[in-house]
Amino acid sequence: MSFALPIFRSTQGPKEPAVEQTSPRSVRISVTDRCDMACVYCRPSMTDGYVPAEDRLDVDAWERLVRALVAQGVRRVRITGGEPLLFRGVVDVVRRIRAIGVEDLALTTNASRLAALAAPLREAGLARINVSLDSLDPARFAEITRGGSLERVLEGVEAARAAGFDEIKINTVVLRGRNDDEIEAITRWAWDRGIVPRFIEVMGVGEGAKLYQSHVVGYREMRALVAHLCADEDAEVERDRGPAKYVRSRDGKHRVGFITGTTDTFCEGCDRLRASSTGVLRACLSKNDGVDVSDAARSGDESSITRGLADAWAMKPDGSWKGCTEATAKAVNMRATGG
Ligand code: SAM
Repeated sequence: MSFALPIFRSTQGPKEPAVEQTSPRSVRISVTDRCDMACVYCRPSMTDGYVPAEDRLDVDAWERLVRALVAQGVRRVRITGGEPLLFRGVVDVVRRIRAIGVEDLALTTNASRLAALAAPLREAGLARINVSLDSLDPARFAEITRGGSLERVLEGVEAARAAGFDEIKINTVVLRGRNDDEIEAITRWAWDRGIVPRFIEVMGVGEGAKLYQSHVVGYREMRALVAHLCADEDAEVERDRGPAKYVRSRDGKHRVGFITGTTDTFCEGCDRLRASSTGVLRACLSKNDGVDVSDAARSGDESSITRGLADAWAMKPDGSWKGCTEATAKAVNMRATGG
């Protein structure tokens, strides 16, 4: 069954330009397009014939690229992928970015390799970590991730807790009929462990374009499923921490977050740039447009990176843009661009 989606914008009234910043404040770097899971909303199956990029940036190039971006005003860096822990130099990337000096350094992972890497990542200076976890049921988890091991992921989460990160968040992409009945259980599970759960509306990006109309569970419905656990208050966005909005638990000790990329696009004020695994700077998750700065990153040509940054930033969509609901979104390769 298909239905018209209640898509609305988060600000009413006359359209303002989407971006007030003259330069990006945050960047997501996709250090590899390889992944050892194939989540149904993200990418085709493991055997889809996809050939991972061979010309990925190495650790030195990432250091030069991030250094140049920081010189232009970037303050927050998130390492993602693909699966970033499959990138052999990931701990070194963390260490080098930490040495450059940024206000916030975080990483998003499926945690399949986190058990071994949590402590080294923490020691290298990683402050915060987000783990993708779509179900607490092993069979369901394997189905949604097309073969992922819940046991390994949970071991990774425990290792992250032991490593003492400043903050651990769980990202759950909610799919109607597949895991929407677990929202309360995942919230309780996370709170019991000092973890912040976040529930994400499936977006029409990449493979998600094939199922978001039939499977999206909107913010209001998700929130209603945990309303009895939460304070009766408006959800609030955390300053400088992306588009998620949060509600506190009734006792005020915990938070639960929601990311509404489908029912309430949040392009206004987006200060985010993305760098693909091959060194292409992209201004929007929902478009493939970008500027290739890989040669400059490899050679350390900072002025060319600065020019590339300005050109990429000029591609930032304006106030009429509706983010992941735009038709261009389905052509995006989430692995290369970095979710
Ligand atoms: N491999 C890492 C992981 O699993 O966290 C990092 C990359 S993954 C692409 C980053 C995030 O994007 C994950 O939290 C994933 O659930 C989310 N994601 C991917 N496709 C999505 C879609 N169509 N809608 C909503 N979220 C999506």
